[in-house]
Amino acid sequence: MIYLDNGATTPLDGDVLEAMLPYLKENYGNAQSQHGAGRASANALISARDKVAELLGCRADEVYFVSSGTEAGNTALKGVCLNRGKGRIVISSIEHPALYESALDMQKLGFEVTFVDPDKNGVVSAKSVESALTDDTVFCAVMSANNETGVIQPVEEIAKVCRERGIFYYTDSVQTAGCCALPTATVDGLGISAHKFYGPKGVGALYIKNGSKFSRLISGGMQERGLRGGTSNVAGAVGLAYALEKAVKERQKNNAHVKTVRDGFLDRVLKEIPCAKLNGCKDLLLPGHANVTFDGCDGENILFMLDLKGVCVSTGSACSAGAVAPSRSLISMGLGEREAKSAVRFTFGKYNTREEADLVVEELKKAVNIIKRT
Ligand code: PLP
Repeated sequence: MIYLDNGATTPLDGDVLEAMLPYLKENYGNAQSQHGAGRASANALISARDKVAELLGCRADEVYFVSSGTEAGNTALKGVCLNRGKGRIVISSIEHPALYESALDMQKLGFEVTFVDPDKNGVVSAKSVESALTDDTVFCAVMSANNETGVIQPVEEIAKVCRERGIFYYTDSVQTAGCCALPTATVDGLGISAHKFYGPKGVGALYIKNGSKFSRLISGGMQERGLRGGTSNVAGAVGLAYALEKAVKERQKNNAHVKTVRDGFLDRVLKEIPCAKLNGCKDLLLPGHANVTFDGCDGENILFMLDLKGVCVSTGSACSAGAVAPSRSLISMGLGEREAKSAVRFTFGKYNTREEADLVVEELKKAVNIIKRT
């Protein structure tokens, strides 16, 4: 198998698994229990939180362990809005469904929602966000980098615009955690998910700046300072902290490797496949992303043909209610429906090699030729 879908999820790093195993086997106490086994788990949770806080550059009591990047986004958006009671939500139209669908949920409860489009390069400018902000805006979200195109967003500038107006600004850093510095110091909220940086699935971290008011979404015990009930996922938190630490330590090396493999792939694709065209500004891409439209080909067909050869990629389309809808992100960048449906996302990771990239180029050329002939 050649796995080029690291934007969807990454394999678990063996070292991360080793760090987690004691908390799945012998050290299984409930972190809320008052006996020795419970205390051992509670201490592991404290260390994991301290480590995440150190890596994020914030205080430990500003870090909440959650189940996913999706939960982090839901908690921030709904938690802040429910606390305020009414007002406007301003989010980009390229947000992951974690934020986009949450905004629609709140719209049903009476909140106003404004969606801000990116330009044709996939960038949501601070200027366009600024012109959407109103006196009654209570929440703003623009992701750190888009999951489909990999285009990095001007988070610091957007944060400044929101800060000047006292508006809570959340950035979804699920795609950038591990490979980019996180803008914790300039935003009010930020979410990450361990399975995107070689950690386990089912655990994320949410940063909420001290003093920010938000309502809890999960009522229950006093876990996460009473704001997120549910028995703590100690092994998950340990895994997330370890994976983030390793990713940060190896960032330069991994980014250089991933970018070299991706660039080699992309250069060949754009040169050797005449109908191929890159979506998003090349200079602003995450190191591993390449979203390419193959004019005249259906992206799903390419995906299936590569899958038959053991190559895993994804399309810019999302399957909704049985119908394949074109990607919201690509459409909002100005692509037509057909162009958006002709897009394929290749996301490279630290375990990919140049040889793999070359093999995929060859398979792609064959797939495109077959599709064009039929
Ligand atoms: N936000 C972005 C930008 C993502 O890419 C993803 C996952 O693909 C998520 C949120 C959701 O994260 P999780 O899978 O942990 O729910």
